[in-house]
Amino acid sequence: MNPDLNTNNSLDYSDWSPVHALAQRVMNDMMNLIQHVEEGPVWRPIPEAVQQFFQEPLPHHGMNADIVYDQVLKNIVPYRTGNIHPRFWGWVMGNGTVAGMLGELIKSTINLNAGGGFHAGALAEKQVIRWCCEMFDFPLSSSGLMVSGGSMANFVGLAVARNAKAGFDVRKSGMQSAPKKMTMYSSAETHSSNQKAVEILGLGSEALRLAPVDENYSVDIAAMKKMILEDREAELQPICIIGNAGTVATGGLDDLNALADLAAEENLWFHVDGAFGALAYIVPELKHLVAGMNRADSIAFDMHKWMYLPYEAGCVLVKDESAHRHAFSLTPDYLEHAKRGLAAGDTWFSEYGVELSRGFNALKVWMNIKEHGIEKIGQMILKNVYQAQYLDHLVRSHSSLELLSPTTLNIVCFRYKGNSHDDHFLNELNKELVIRLHESGAAVTSYVTLNSKYAIRVSNTNHRSRFEDFDLLVKKVIEIGDELSR
Ligand SMILES: *Cc1c(COP(=O)(O)O)cnc(C)c1O
Repeated sequence: MNPDLNTNNSLDYSDWSPVHALAQRVMNDMMNLIQHVEEGPVWRPIPEAVQQFFQEPLPHHGMNADIVYDQVLKNIVPYRTGNIHPRFWGWVMGNGTVAGMLGELIKSTINLNAGGGFHAGALAEKQVIRWCCEMFDFPLSSSGLMVSGGSMANFVGLAVARNAKAGFDVRKSGMQSAPKKMTMYSSAETHSSNQKAVEILGLGSEALRLAPVDENYSVDIAAMKKMILEDREAELQPICIIGNAGTVATGGLDDLNALADLAAEENLWFHVDGAFGALAYIVPELKHLVAGMNRADSIAFDMHKWMYLPYEAGCVLVKDESAHRHAFSLTPDYLEHAKRGLAAGDTWFSEYGVELSRGFNALKVWMNIKEHGIEKIGQMILKNVYQAQYLDHLVRSHSSLELLSPTTLNIVCFRYKGNSHDDHFLNELNKELVIRLHESGAAVTSYVTLNSKYAIRVSNTNHRSRFEDFDLLVKKVIEIGDELSR
């Protein structure tokens, strides 16, 4: 018989001192990594030997924890996405904060399950939701849920929208009983997660009607209204408008007040995808850009983007708490709430979303907001917008660069142009340029195609970026571009 079965062994330690020492080492290494992150490359390619390392088969027998950690240091830590670095501006990724990192450590140590029950995790998450309501001028009676990110937040918001506006009991009879096809409306620039949600909700991607945008990548409201009226005419059932507070490609901003008016006129649910842009609302200098967001029935936003928290942290707020709960609540006898004891508690977050067992992600948010205060976080957001304007200015003032979209928020899209006017040539050149930029380790940007032009896309949700980092980016882009055009 395996000797482990004859003892009182657990996965803990009989002698704890080596693991204490290891934990100190991990903590020191991680703090040093963050403190000196700008001294290393933003990103580096993974050598073949390291890729091979991950082919090791299932370990049947354990090894010393120090050795496991050494493997992590050698094969994992250096080959990260790089978004903790001050010159990372790809896709929309935040840096994370030390407060968030410490929150993650405490979260996994106490390892509470935030699905339901009477414990401080539920109180802290409720408080975080309440703070978010304050941030966005939502009534404090609204409900909310911390989720993994914007995709899940959009899904939850749109699920509530569908069930509230269907006109029949979707949960009981299912979409096959829908008397009419339901439709939702957004702009052609809307994020793919909304389409995924519409597909999973059983409406089909055809049901997501995409209205065109203007030159600022803001939705054409008259066109959207026309689509709604035509669909009604055709016996379809419009149920929801999705507004964009910051489109993912260019940071485009819909006129949220006009969309709120249209939704009210047409009796539709108004959902805002504010994955990153919603956070502009907390900055007095930027609030006007997303004015009207507080009139939404639901808002989805990310905390791992423009609130700079470590992954994962997203959130959805819903004004009608009862509609929210009715979309997800299911309490079999084994989940009944007690009056006292651990099974008490008036809010069980498992009744507001898909997940039952949930991590205590609210802790890092709670700690981060307490340590920095919302004004400081707002200043970082404003700094990022000013830096985007600074980069916009650098691009405009350099003859071999060309701006490809208006800089409305924190995203700048441009390309190296050199002396060429050949779009096909420039598309290939800029594609290679972005790859070489990554491989150089100097900076990470992403890319997007705008009106058939391949753009270098800089998306700034980086609290560590300094203004001189953008000078360096421009210098490097021109250097690589000149090299490639020779
Ligand atoms: C990032 C993003 C999403 C998806 O959020 P995840 O956190 O990546 O799931 C949705 N909408 C917009 C506008 C985004 O930028």
